[in-house]
Amino acid sequence: MNSDEIKALDQQYVMQTYRRNPLAIDHGKGAVLWSPEGKEYIDFTSGIGVCSLGCANEAWANAIYQQAMKVGHISNLFYTEPYAKLASKLVPAAGMKAAFFGNSGAEANEGMIKTARKWSFEKYGEGRATIITLRNSFHGRTITTLKATGQDHFHEYFFPFTEGFRYAQANDLASLEAASGDDVCAVMMELVQGEGGVNPLEKDYVQSVAKLCAEKDWLLLIDEVQTGVGRTGSLFAYQQFGVEPDVATFAKGIAGGLPFGGFLVGEKCRTVLRAGDHGSTFGGNPIAAAAGCVVLDTILADGFLEKVQEKGQYLRERIAAMESPYVTGIRGMGLMLGVGVQGMKHSELKDKLLEAGLLALTAGKDTLRLLPPLTITREELDRGLAIMEKVMK
Ligand SMILES: *Cc1c(COP(=O)(O)O)cnc(C)c1O
Repeated sequence: MNSDEIKALDQQYVMQTYRRNPLAIDHGKGAVLWSPEGKEYIDFTSGIGVCSLGCANEAWANAIYQQAMKVGHISNLFYTEPYAKLASKLVPAAGMKAAFFGNSGAEANEGMIKTARKWSFEKYGEGRATIITLRNSFHGRTITTLKATGQDHFHEYFFPFTEGFRYAQANDLASLEAASGDDVCAVMMELVQGEGGVNPLEKDYVQSVAKLCAEKDWLLLIDEVQTGVGRTGSLFAYQQFGVEPDVATFAKGIAGGLPFGGFLVGEKCRTVLRAGDHGSTFGGNPIAAAAGCVVLDTILADGFLEKVQEKGQYLRERIAAMESPYVTGIRGMGLMLGVGVQGMKHSELKDKLLEAGLLALTAGKDTLRLLPPLTITREELDRGLAIMEKVMK
């Protein structure tokens, strides 16, 4: 089928909940993708930060095949080796105590919220379940995580939402203090706001929040669904901010393209969720966990994360040096970068890049978001940058 035929079927039979690009992707290798028509694209999106090892990574594909031929699914009523192995790699490297495995970012955040509320209920009783989140955040699309998301336009239509969320301004400790109260059990935040516009929090602010949490006995909940698993140049972004979360979620990049998400708990929350409190039929599926082991082995290998930092720095420098009337600046961490756009809608710029052969994302109101595969080569970066230079002039 060609792109138009695929698009026609989709438009007839699929709910049109996405503003899809007018293009089908047929296959790829690394950071290069091809349409069914054979047109070549450089990928600065990695499927929204999911394909951490790029497209069609051989070790990843082999692990998936091998595991599918052993046992593809058995449920959480039994132990499997990839599941236990993945947890044993992830937990110590993250400096945490235990993991729970589910399937997506929103589900991971739901589990983190449940953990915080149960912890507080067991210690303090009822009436202390409110979680403070930040303006401009994004935490998912379930009824609860929509409400946790600090953007008003996500709080329409689907009433009633889950109660117990208040919002504070990012990088503003006074705003957080103003939102505090006896009903609060936790603060939840992304360290680089992703969908909200690639806005990194200030290190001082994050450390002050951690201090305030310690003073008030609030839990520090970090949503690393987008920032986690090497994206910012460390396994988790909190490792660069010098804070230790009580619970941290991950999802997008963990299994390199298969659906997988989960959360990690520190000592305080180590035993909060017990048998029967939480679960997931597909969670920790052995095929996805085997894929996750390959991703972790790759990114935790000597020098890999330093290279992510170097590649991010290289991208920043090259983009900062572009003489474009449309670029206002570049921000972010590692290979999670936001380019400020002026004089054109960010989506229009994204469309022009696509036409010229580069896949990019948008974020917030005026930001072009770049999330290339962590394994992207210098040559692939240069090809993508050349397209940007041409289009942005
Ligand atoms: C993508 C994202 C989510 C939601 O993840 P899903 O897998 O789409 O449910 C939650 N939080 C952050 C920070 C994200 O970037």
